[in-house]
Amino acid sequence: MNKDVIPSVKNSLISERFQYSNIEKILNEDIQEVEVETTAVSDEVEEDIDFSNLKFNWSITAEQVYALKDRVIEYIKTIDNQVLATPDEECSFDTTVGLYGKMDNEIQVALRNIDFLQDVSPIKEIRDASTESSQEFDEFNLERWKNKKIFEKIEKARENHANGLFLPLKHEEDKKLLEDYYEAYRKSGLDLPEEDIKKLKEYQKKLNDATTEYNRALVEDTTTHIFTKSELEGVSEDFLEGCEKTVKDGEEAYVILMDYPSRDAIYEYAIKEETRKTMMEVYTKRFASNVDQLKEATNLRLKIANLFGYPTHSSYVLKDKMAQNQTNVLEFLEDLKVKLQPLAKKEIQTLLDLKKNITTELNQPYDGVLNKWDYSYYSRILLEKEYSINQEEIQEYFPIDEVTKEMFALYEEILSIKCIEVEDKNVWHPDVRHIDVYDKETNNYIGVIYLDLYPRDGKYNHYASFSLVCGYEKEDGSRVHSIGAMVCNFTKPTPSKPSLLIHDEVVTYFHELGHLIHQLLSETKWAEYNGLNVEQDFVEAPSQMLENWCWEPEILKRLSHHYKDVSKRLPDDLIERLIKTKTYHSGISNLYQILYGFIDMSIHSIKTINEIDDYNKLWDDLQREIVTIENVKDSYPLGNFNHLVGGYDAGYYGYLWSQSYSADMYFSEFK
Ligand SMILES: [Zn+2]
Repeated sequence: MNKDVIPSVKNSLISERFQYSNIEKILNEDIQEVEVETTAVSDEVEEDIDFSNLKFNWSITAEQVYALKDRVIEYIKTIDNQVLATPDEECSFDTTVGLYGKMDNEIQVALRNIDFLQDVSPIKEIRDASTESSQEFDEFNLERWKNKKIFEKIEKARENHANGLFLPLKHEEDKKLLEDYYEAYRKSGLDLPEEDIKKLKEYQKKLNDATTEYNRALVEDTTTHIFTKSELEGVSEDFLEGCEKTVKDGEEAYVILMDYPSRDAIYEYAIKEETRKTMMEVYTKRFASNVDQLKEATNLRLKIANLFGYPTHSSYVLKDKMAQNQTNVLEFLEDLKVKLQPLAKKEIQTLLDLKKNITTELNQPYDGVLNKWDYSYYSRILLEKEYSINQEEIQEYFPIDEVTKEMFALYEEILSIKCIEVEDKNVWHPDVRHIDVYDKETNNYIGVIYLDLYPRDGKYNHYASFSLVCGYEKEDGSRVHSIGAMVCNFTKPTPSKPSLLIHDEVVTYFHELGHLIHQLLSETKWAEYNGLNVEQDFVEAPSQMLENWCWEPEILKRLSHHYKDVSKRLPDDLIERLIKTKTYHSGISNLYQILYGFIDMSIHSIKTINEIDDYNKLWDDLQREIVTIENVKDSYPLGNFNHLVGGYDAGYYGYLWSQSYSADMYFSEFK
């Protein structure tokens, strides 16, 4: 993926119908004691679990993950049986969907304790247990949604309320929950003929397998590449200090990982073109088999859409979205493309001129092409030359701890909240930080934000916000609070320097925090409707709106503290120059976003199986046409595009789509 990909929200609603539960106080088990089996969840796994009072246990063992999954499944079965045993005349909201809503609220902790670890646990055995258990759970759950008898009870409840056997529902969310459950059961294929239901089950299981394998490959990848010190000419010493040292061809060398900070360090700073090219080849030629998994997934999605009478997966998905249909999405993307291409053409020409000058100066041959591995490098140099922007200089003003402090302080002021960091040993890795959020005026507790900021082996390799608990109202009227986790891959601190953020990363940080604050502040009766569970082509808008603050002089002043002397703020002239770069290369970077939108729409709008034979060629062709920069030969960007298996299928355009709303909100509210 291009580095400009806007970080995603990982929305837990998408792959499952179940929701997430309560945590008021977190237990303080020691993360180091992973082998110790006597922990909160394990005790309860042996006994009866009170799901409504379950606390997270991040030092859970692999065995306990499997056991917990079994217990959740058992629990759900008892609720199903309770619903099924209800006589028709007693079917109401409270005895059917209300029970499910409550169950969905309460099993959140157990489910996230099972499935979140595949993305964050430092222990492979636990990641595997997490992947397998959530896959198994999903299969069990899919099966439930095909249970005609449950559907009939819900239908009855609906009828009984409509014909006066029970009072009409008063609460808007109850009404919506009843309708949504009814619709979800209908959509899960219960109206289909027996034969088709069988097919549907088979397709959904295969789809689940394909997407799980895709994600597993991403998380488990351990590719590295060894570059000699001379190959790495230009790359910062600070960065290299954090890399493992080795020897290659008798020369001092470094082991380079494939995480974002390493990739960018090479792409932007390696003087030797061959080094940048090699890095990009190693980086983009991974995950060939993931492209096959994705192709399989798109074929299966088509088959499922067909069963429901839709000609394509995109038409099936888009009918409930703001964009409504594929034509609207394609017109939107095409229109943007046409507007941006002339701008991008100029940007590319400027970079080419620069490349020509620099290669001539160095007495190197000039090939007259802006290669993909040239873009970040010359773009960085141009920023330094044209705008006198030196990222390394700016970085010194954004040590991550200071930025974190200021960012929270800013949110505290704007939203009248109070954020307090507390020590918490019950986390999945010692790096993870725990922040409690309160209402400033009432002192009421609002929820928890976890920050998991640095890359490590086996960790989710993009930037995302995860909802661990979606807040809800208990029967006694008290609230269960939301818990969210930010999972990022910022540069790790080294012994001599803290983690320093470039401005782009500050924006990303602000964006992700925006998602979590959005989640925490939302107050709904049911977890189902909490926080980030809004329309997908709108969910990015609040965070995108908040990004604008990172381009305001007074905010930049506040966020910045020089790491050697925290009283030193970003100087005015530097702020001025930085702000001028707000639209720097927005032609090219937005064309990449448009490319991703088109690719997603293309592979999810196929009308026949394997209609697009070669997905890699499709990418190459579209990139050439839209961005006008050649893709790396024989590379597999679609193998590392987890949005397309993580719920953004036929939905990637949503990033650009919601940007138009966010611009609107920002300029009408704050300007
Ligand atoms: Zn986002």
